[in-house]
Parts: sequence; structure tokens; C-alpha cells
Amino acid sequence: MTVADAVTGSFETTGRRWASEALRRADPQLADLLAAEAERRAESVQLLAGENLTGPAVLAALTGPLIDKYAEGYPGRRHHTGCALADAAELLAVDRARELFAAPHANVQPRSATSAMLATYAALLRPGDVVLAMSLEHGGHLSCGSRANFSGRWFDFVGYGVRREDGLIDLDQVRALAREHRPKAIVAGSISYPRHPDWAAFREIADEVDAYLIASAAQTTGLVAAGVAPSPVPYADVTVAATHKLLRGPRGGLLLCTTELAERIDRAVFPFSQGGAAMNEVAGKAVALAEAATPGYRAYAHRTVAGARVLAAGLAEAGMRPLTGGTDTHLVTADVGPLGVSGAEAERRCTVAGLMLGKCALPYDPAPPSEASGIRLGTGTVTSQGMGEAELTEIAGLIGRLLAEGADVRIGERVRELARAFADRR
Ligand SMILES: *Cc1c(COP(=O)(O)O)cnc(C)c1O
Repeated sequence: MTVADAVTGSFETTGRRWASEALRRADPQLADLLAAEAERRAESVQLLAGENLTGPAVLAALTGPLIDKYAEGYPGRRHHTGCALADAAELLAVDRARELFAAPHANVQPRSATSAMLATYAALLRPGDVVLAMSLEHGGHLSCGSRANFSGRWFDFVGYGVRREDGLIDLDQVRALAREHRPKAIVAGSISYPRHPDWAAFREIADEVDAYLIASAAQTTGLVAAGVAPSPVPYADVTVAATHKLLRGPRGGLLLCTTELAERIDRAVFPFSQGGAAMNEVAGKAVALAEAATPGYRAYAHRTVAGARVLAAGLAEAGMRPLTGGTDTHLVTADVGPLGVSGAEAERRCTVAGLMLGKCALPYDPAPPSEASGIRLGTGTVTSQGMGEAELTEIAGLIGRLLAEGADVRIGERVRELARAFADRR
């Protein structure tokens, strides 16, 4: 199968795939669980913003022979013997990442975006340093200063946010906080902000106070790869990316940085924060990066954003308030308050009907985080399955009815029908 086939070819997602003979013999209990999970996915519509559908070529690389290889270190500088082919696979991934993102340096070893953030902070900061990042209440990731995370424990975070009027990042506030607190690093990027950060403006502010600029771009990595989102790479000292979200690769992180920081970033990943890399994941990343360079993937990225715009418009039509009035990405964050339900209740009703989305605390949310006033959805998975604007318009309407009128078995039936129609397609 060629890379192009893998992007456009069919991919079976139903339970049959998991009834592998060996697994069924060795562990029928787990085989049943996996079959049921595949069935659950086939019967419901996946709108969780960070998820996608991993393609067959990436899955093949993930379960290939590199899964057994120990390869601590970097190509040409390993602590284990027998690494020549592992080196070649990692170099493929690194070269493809550098080319795809026009990045001077790439590190493909981080096991997750959060561990890539850890390595980035380790490379640039010392414990106690001040970091300016989007506050968690306004959409910053856990790795941007949560007290439950290493970031909030080891660094002194100052949070910026979005304006109440239009939901857009308040760059005047970012600049004022930067001047006041003189951070060592500024982080731009979010888990729920549906617009692109103004990378040039962030760079200018970082330069003014002599801070590093870290792009926390895990959500939109695939859009940047496809040229659908402006790239942070020319502006940021370090870009933290994820390979499992829109990029449709293995669950994992990816670091892109300047030549100047290359050595520090590499040492901060291994040996500072990780041991041996998962070479099967590195191989899977190489495949995903090759796929992301194809016209088929770029078309997918465009469709993903077009679908999200339609979804946002449909939710607005149904009485919800999309943050910032719409989206430039795969993400839609919407206030469900006008329909008289909480985010948690919206998530419950949609889940029962087979529409898988997440409650989301909004900036200036009057509700406690456990209830929240918003929902967050993404179009990555459904677009991979081949759903388009017609389906997303319908889905927005179904969500609207569930929230305005309450549970209705007919809605659940329609969702299952939609899900089944697209379960084996991408
Ligand atoms: C998804 C995401 C993360 C975390 O990714 P993991 O791989 O789950 O650790 C971090 N930051 C941002 C902005 C994200 O969107």
C-alpha cells in the first residue's frame, strides 16, 4: 500500500478487525473489550476535539518489528547496539518533520505533547522562573501552570486571557503582563481557542521582554502541516506539536526548534525526561508525516476546517453561542447557557444519544468547572470518516434538539444510522 492509498483507502473500524486469532486465544477477555470498543466507536459519532482515526499504514508501523527495539539516544549516538535500522527510521521521521514544517531542527521522541512541554521547559527554564501563558480558565492546557501538573509546581505562571466582548486573545493584556512580570518564556496556544494566535505579535512581545516564545500547537499541528493554519515555526523558539490529533499519527509529541536550541532540546528529551524512545511510535510518526505531505491530506485539512465552520454556524442557528463567533480550526467551543442547560448536562444528553463531545469551561464561566457552561467539539475524526457539510449541519441540529427539548430515542437512532454509514469509510 502506498502512502497515498493509505490516506484515501478504506479502513475497517468495526469489531471484526480485533478478533485476531492470537489475541482471542491468549486473552479472550481483552479481545472482547477491544471488539466492544470498536463497536462503540462504530455506533457513535466521535466529536472529541483531540481524537482522530489512525490510518492502516500508521497502525502497521506501530505494530511492526521496531516495537521490540531498545534505542536510547539519537541516530549515530545510541547506547544500544543493533540500531542501524532504527536510526534510519528515526532519521526519516526527523527529515520529514523538518521538511513538512520548514523547521531547522526536529525531535520525534517525546511520548506525548505534555512530555514535550516538560522537555521544553527543562531546556529553557530553571525551577522558579516566571512563565506567561494562557490561563487554564481561558483555555490553557494543564501544562500551562496547573497546580496538579509539574508546570504549576515548578514554575511561577502568570495567566493571560481573552476579551469578554469578543472572546479573542487580549494582546494588550499579554504585553502589559509581559512588561510587568518579565517572564523567561511566553507560551501561546490553547486546547479550546478556535482561532489562530497572532504569532508575529507574540514574537514581538517576547522580544521586547527578552523571553523565549513557546508555541503550544498540539491541537493544530495537522493544520499547520497542511498550510491551513499559519505556522508558528518561523516565530517560536520551540514549537510543541502532537502527532495523534489532526496529524493522524501515533499518540505522541514532536518538538520543532531553532538550530541554536537543538542540542538543549535533544538533551532535555533524552536523557533528562525520557529513557529509550518508543521506536515503533517513531516509525509511525515517520509514516504520518509522509502522509501529511500529500495533496490528499491537505484536502482533508481544508475539509476539516470547512466542516467545523458549518458545525459552528449550525450550533449558533440552534441557539448556542460559539466562542469568538465561529472558528478558523477544527475546533468549536460553544456556550450552551442560552438553551438553559449546563455543559455537563449537554455532554450527558449527547453521550446517551451517541454524540461524543466534551463539556468545557468557558472564559468568565459563571458555573463551577464540574458543571461548566460550554461544550467543545472537533471535526477531525468525522472528516477522516468522510462526513461533510451536510452531515455536520444535521449533527448541529441534532445537538440543538437534544439540548432544547431533551432526550429523544429517535435522535439516538438517527445518530447510530449516521455513524454506521460512515464507520468503515475515511
Ligand atoms: C492535546 C494537547 C496537549 C496534551 O497532549 P498529550 O499528548 O495528551 O499530552 C497539550 N497541549 C495542548 C495545547 C494540547 O492540545
